[in-house]
This record gives sequence, C-alpha cells and structure tokens, in this order.
Amino acid sequence: MARPLIADIDLDALRHNYCLARDLAPHSRAVAVLKADAYGHGAVPCARALSDLAPAFAVACLEEASVLREAGIDTPIVLLEGIFEACELEAVDAMGLWTVVHSDWQLEAMLAYRPRRPIPTWLKVDSGMHRLGFGPHRAEQVWARLAAAPDRVSDLHLMSHFATADAPDSTYFRHQLDLLEALAKRLGAPTSLANSPATLAWPEAHGAWNRPGVMLYGSDPLEAPNDASRRLAPVMTLRSEIIAVRELDTGEPVGYAGRWQAPRPSRIGVVACGYGDGYDRHAVDGTPVLVNGRRTAIAGKVSMDMLTVDITEIPEAGIGSPVILWGQAAGGERLSVDEVARHCDTISYTLLTGVLPRVPRRYH
Ligand code: PLP
Repeated sequence: MARPLIADIDLDALRHNYCLARDLAPHSRAVAVLKADAYGHGAVPCARALSDLAPAFAVACLEEASVLREAGIDTPIVLLEGIFEACELEAVDAMGLWTVVHSDWQLEAMLAYRPRRPIPTWLKVDSGMHRLGFGPHRAEQVWARLAAAPDRVSDLHLMSHFATADAPDSTYFRHQLDLLEALAKRLGAPTSLANSPATLAWPEAHGAWNRPGVMLYGSDPLEAPNDASRRLAPVMTLRSEIIAVRELDTGEPVGYAGRWQAPRPSRIGVVACGYGDGYDRHAVDGTPVLVNGRRTAIAGKVSMDMLTVDITEIPEAGIGSPVILWGQAAGGERLSVDEVARHCDTISYTLLTGVLPRVPRRYH
C-alpha cells in the first residue's frame, strides 16, 4: 500500500471562492493570483478550473507564465514583478503577457523595445509598502512617458499593494488608499489595488481590477473574519492516516527531545506526515488535527516523515484511521489552515506554499 499522505484539491471550492471574490466587487474584474504554483495547489489545474471564469491570471515571473502557456492556457497573464532582465521582453511579447513596471531600468527597457503589439502594462506605485514601485511623484512622470508610447504599451493601469488591509481598522490602509485615489484622479488612471483582504473588507479599494490570491484557496486573511470571509470554502485538504499506535504510561516522553510527556496513561497515533512533506516543524503541542473526523492535537515534535497525535480520547482510532492535517473531513468537520498556522506562529500562505512535491495532489 502507498504512503497515505495526499493533498486533495477541491476545484469546485476554488471556483466557489473565485465567484465570491467576483461577486463582492461587481464593478471590478478579478485577476486570479496563481503564483507560487497557485499557492501550492498546482497552477495548471487551478488555471484550467478557472479559465471560463477569470478574465486574467497573475504570476510572479516569466517562468511561471511559461508553465501555463505550455499547458495550452491562453488567458491573459500579468507578471506581478514584471521582467527581471530586458531580454525577457521578447518572451513577454511572444506569449502575449501583461507586465508591471516598478523600476527605472524596466521603464527604459520597455521604451527601447519594439513589440509586435503594444504590451498591456501596469505601473506600480509605492504607496507605503516600501517594497516595489515608484513614489507617487515619480509615478506621474513615468505614467506620462508610458502614455506617450502607445506603440510600446497599452491598457495602462496604476497598481499598488496594501501593507495592512488585513487589520480591521487600519489608519495606514486609509493613508495608502487616499494617496492612490488622489494620484489616480490626477492621472485619470484605472487602478489595480485590492488583494484578498481588501477584496473581502474594503470595497472602497476595489478598482478596475482586483487581485485576490489566498482567498481563492479558502484561507481567510482577515484578522477579524467578516460575513464574506466566513463563506470561503477550503480548497486543499491535507490528509493522511495513522500508521502505528503507542501505549504510554504517565510521564513517558514522545519524539525528539521528549518534548511531550504523557500526563496520564495515553495512546499516541503516529501519522505519515512530517516536515519533509512541508508540514511546519514549529507546530506546538496542542496544534489541532482531526482523527476519524474528531478534534485532537499534536503531541511531540514534528519529525521529517511523521508526527504524533494524542488519541487517548478517541478509543476507536487505530492503524488506518483517517487524519486531516487541515481541510475537510469526510463527515464535514473542518479544520482551517489558518487555525493550524496560528499554532505554528505563521500564516496560511507559508503552510500552503510549503507542501512539498513528494505529496501527491489529487484533483476533484
Ligand atoms: N498582488 C500582489 C502584488 C501580491 O504580491 C499578492 C500576494 O502576495 C497578491 C496580489 C495576492 O495577495 P493575497 O494572497 O493576500 O490575496
């Protein structure tokens, strides 16, 4: 029998979440963000599942776009970080990609290159993230130069990224939005601003395009969930089984460094899933898991190929019992990847993108 660890990907849930993002912003179009292999879910199957819904996809770089084009996907694709070398413009042009300009060297490369047809281009403004983009004053000058080159660029949009859209009442978010609204008004520019938290919680930030990412995969990025985010459906279920059972006396330790010690006579289930599969080694004792659809918790440090769970209160559990690390159990019980992430002192993004290739993906 094969090792029982599988990442089940529910493509109907992906479509449901995309429709939620779309319906929350009826005056915007939603680019489905498929970077990092669709946050670990598999970019090609996710793109195929969304191709009749999404008018465009977004990836980080040319290599990620090439994977989609080679799979026959002809939906427009925007490169969120633009080109990394001037010579990439040839492939951008040939593949009909859209690009982002965030740096002077990219601007000069775009203006020097003669494309077969003008390249749809988003100008990235640094409105406060202080990562990529032109400051608002420079952005006006760059906009003017791009707008004056209609043989090189088309469909100009202002693009920016929010640093604090996940916070319930963010003064800094409003500062970024005010600045962007003023700039867009001065330029008469359509915008692409909203990531998942802004799509879910800040309708005033919805622009011509929104860019939902993690919400498509069913994770709630908001610090305080709202009515919309509660309707998200989990897409990935990371499932395995118990492969061995240990009976321990009070005080006996489990795993490396003996971090967990049995507080009473205990039964421990050994689960085929470890950090060698991408499960976070920072998971503390008490990190939730579902065994036979019932909640229990990690007991002991995560190893490379295994982790251990306390099944003392689930007497019917034994070798072969189903284990959900996150996602949805057969009986409907859910364990959100966001809840697991909190026990690992991280965010869902790292858990989902961290599921390694040795975990087979199974699509439904
Ligand atoms: N837009 C840009 C530029 C991004 O870098 C990202 C993700 O990091 C997104 C949109 C999607 O963000 P989220 O996954 O929070 O929706």
